[in-house]
Amino acid sequence: MPKIVPIKILKTMKEEYEILKLGNPILRRTAKEVSKEEILSENIQNLIDDMWNVMEKAGGIGLAAPQIGISIQLAVIKLESSSDRYENLEDSEEFIIFNPELEVINSEKQGFWEGCLSVPGLRGYVKRPKKLKISYLNEKAEKKEVIVEDFLATVFQHELDHLFGYLYVDRLDSTKDLVFEDELVNITKDKILD
Ligand SMILES: [Zn+2]
Repeated sequence: MPKIVPIKILKTMKEEYEILKLGNPILRRTAKEVSKEEILSENIQNLIDDMWNVMEKAGGIGLAAPQIGISIQLAVIKLESSSDRYENLEDSEEFIIFNPELEVINSEKQGFWEGCLSVPGLRGYVKRPKKLKISYLNEKAEKKEVIVEDFLATVFQHELDHLFGYLYVDRLDSTKDLVFEDELVNITKDKILD
């Protein structure tokens, strides 16, 4: 596999990461897998820290590397009960996910109003399978498996979609399920995610 992230790119981008928005072609690529050696490199370890910082600053609960212009298979997820933006969330552990594989365990679908830092201002009601098994490598390049369900299952599918060139708008049944977040307040108090 070719080297994926030249050191100089990470260093020049490090000071200020910009969150890419819908329309940027990087969001539509299948991101590259990351080798174990690369995961353990200083570059990628620093990138993980940067991703947590960018996510926290933006008030999100998940972030995928392509959203900051780095087309590799890396996403971070952490649900926070203290979040001002989201109601009724339970704290989750911190997930650092490389090279994920998703297996649907329960294909029955559940819907949530999703948002995305790459699609600012909008929300969409998306129905996705409610229970999955995710296999991935963690930040120590160890193989991990986790069973996710309920809202966390949707968050995983949303974030991992980013690694394969998909956004939640692709998962809408109808464009009628796409609204501005200002209007959503009038429709529902269901959970939303960024
Ligand atoms: Zn997103």
